[in-house]
Amino acid sequence: MVTQKPKIVIIGAGVAGLAAANKLYTTQNSNKLFDLCVVEGGNRIGGRIFTSNFCGDKIEIGATWIHGIEGNPIYKIAQEINSFQSDQPWECMEGEKNLENEVCRKFLEKFNLENGGIEKNLSIGSFLRKGLDFYCGLNKDQENVEVFENWSRTSLEEGVFSMYENIHRHYSAAGDLGTLDFNGESEYCDFPGDDLPIAKGYSKVIESLASVLPAGVIQLGRKVAKIEWQSDDCCLNLESGDGTKPVKLHFSDGSVMYADHVIVTVSLGVLKQGIREDSGLFSPPLPKFKTEAISRLGFGVVDKLFLQLSPNHDENVGYDEMDFPFMQMVFHPSGAILSHPKIPLWIRKTTLINPIYPKSSVLVSWFAGEEAIEMESLDDEEIINGVSTTMSQFLANSKHFKNSNSIKFSKILKCKWGTDPLFLGSYSYVAVGSSGDDFDALAEPLPKENSKNCPPLQVLFAGEATSRTQYSTTHGAYLTGIREANRLLEHFQCVDV
Ligand SMILES: Cc1cc2nc3c(=O)[nH]c(=O)nc-3n(C[C@H](O)[C@H](O)[C@H](O)COP(=O)(O)OP(=O)(O)OC[C@H]3O[C@@H](n4cnc5c(N)ncnc54)[C@H](O)[C@@H]3O)c2cc1C
Repeated sequence: MVTQKPKIVIIGAGVAGLAAANKLYTTQNSNKLFDLCVVEGGNRIGGRIFTSNFCGDKIEIGATWIHGIEGNPIYKIAQEINSFQSDQPWECMEGEKNLENEVCRKFLEKFNLENGGIEKNLSIGSFLRKGLDFYCGLNKDQENVEVFENWSRTSLEEGVFSMYENIHRHYSAAGDLGTLDFNGESEYCDFPGDDLPIAKGYSKVIESLASVLPAGVIQLGRKVAKIEWQSDDCCLNLESGDGTKPVKLHFSDGSVMYADHVIVTVSLGVLKQGIREDSGLFSPPLPKFKTEAISRLGFGVVDKLFLQLSPNHDENVGYDEMDFPFMQMVFHPSGAILSHPKIPLWIRKTTLINPIYPKSSVLVSWFAGEEAIEMESLDDEEIINGVSTTMSQFLANSKHFKNSNSIKFSKILKCKWGTDPLFLGSYSYVAVGSSGDDFDALAEPLPKENSKNCPPLQVLFAGEATSRTQYSTTHGAYLTGIREANRLLEHFQCVDV
């Protein structure tokens, strides 16, 4: 009798899925033990890591930075494959300015002293607002004079405060900082050291992980519509399968595949959609502790917008002769008398717009939350008009741009992470009402190792949203893939775990 090898199917060819596949395949002798397959719903590998081209420049549609280099496995891979140097310029090649402010950290010390610590369910939004009130209280005797072109001291302080709030919205993906939990967020850890972009492109890390897998292991265009598994509560039913394998995957084209173990690495956005009654991604549905954790955790939208400056034929203002600045924008609150009505609302919470590297004619800007979703829904012309109008207002008095109305854009590329059905958002955060425990709950395999009625470890979970302290990052996602590969290697008592 020929015994079949256990079949392991990894759902999703992002960094978590490929890290798991790489580990399972390269651990000594294990590739002879398993039948391994990675099924990816899209037509490329990499998921939220996606290096592309725009107007001749290399750009990152998704992840851009290695967050901290000391001990970071993504840094290690990028270094091993020599991807920190490139003949071509790359996005952020000068490094990003750290916009975080020491003042916030100092305020925290004072705040702790005066308030006796941080209360439960405090949001980052209300913490920051308390900080501003505290700061204003210190300065309340100062006169509210005009400090700069129609800006009073307090309106400028409010404007700068909103600018920092918006930068934090982009970092955290929480569209509204009132929904971002203070205590939960403080569990997040980066590796020490600099943040670095990858000169040859972030996708090189993905290509390196995938390069060990034989042709045919990764299958593109294979979107999973339903995962049928055997829960502890149901009777064991292998009749629907091929008689031995407990998991049956249904693909959107109607085909099926049987497996002993699946590692689900789809985004938290896809899981949130998948647990809705009308979706039925899991059959039987996931247990309550999982669905509650999925519902409680936050998953926000952060999008980049790339714009190409059109060459200007006005002799006095050729783009070659001037550098488009690294702009940080402070807006009057909408509705304020001095606010410029022509600047659209969807751009008023955007803080940064800058060339992707010095002297590039490609600019990048970041959007978060509702404004990102609105930007995704607009057509290119509306976006070009909105950004051009905003730039004209901001640069009207600039000495570099004698004719600020001449700033025009010829082409744009917008990310659509919020509405792309394979992602439905950008990355996770700890929403008020959730906690680090929810990431751990999401990481738990089903059924557990000691399950009595059913084959254990049928459905395992990896991906950035299953990392308690490194969610929202590429290294967090990578390490969860390794964690789940190791879980299976231990189960099969393979060496090298
Ligand atoms: C705009 C943006 C900027 C970012 N910047 C940074 C940064 O600078 N640094 C950093 O560390 N991180 C950053 N991140 C986060 C980082 O990209 C992610 O945390 C990480 O890539 C997630 O990897 P993953 O494997 O968990 O998920 P994913 O990359 O989402 O992989 C999951 C895969 O599953 C596939 N899939 C989904 N549904 C199905 C289905 N039904 N059937 C089959 N396949 C399916 C998807 O197509 C996808 O390929 C950024 C993300 C975004 C969007």
